[in-house]
Amino acid sequence: MTALSQTMILLVEDNPENADMLTRRLGRRGFGVTTVGDGLAALVQVQREEPDLILMDLSLPEMDGLEATRRLKADPARRHIPIIALTAHAMRSDMDRAFEAGCEGFETKPVDFDRLLTKIHALLAAGAGATHG
Ligand code: MN
Repeated sequence: MTALSQTMILLVEDNPENADMLTRRLGRRGFGVTTVGDGLAALVQVQREEPDLILMDLSLPEMDGLEATRRLKADPARRHIPIIALTAHAMRSDMDRAFEAGCEGFETKPVDFDRLLTKIHALLAAGAGATHG
């Protein structure tokens, strides 16, 4: 059970080492983190417990992060949840694809944690005053 005031992040990452590292570092900053390893599992988890923000690896085993993002952004009840794409592919076209799918942020791996944290805080602050229509 997490405190009601705790900001919850859903981390979608199929690499256990990356998932453990990010979970630990985000936890130290006070975030609650739930991890799943596939896009389809992410969609299921979002129904169970709506996160405040999603970190979405793009390369996932069953449903990739782009497709999971498209589905979340097509859902009026979920599209307000900010999504930051994480990918080892740093080409401009990869970034374009992520934004076209609906991601609000993009970070290349290996993750620069301080930069990621800045983006997380910016997206959470931008959404803080929004009403969920
Ligand atoms: Mn992956």
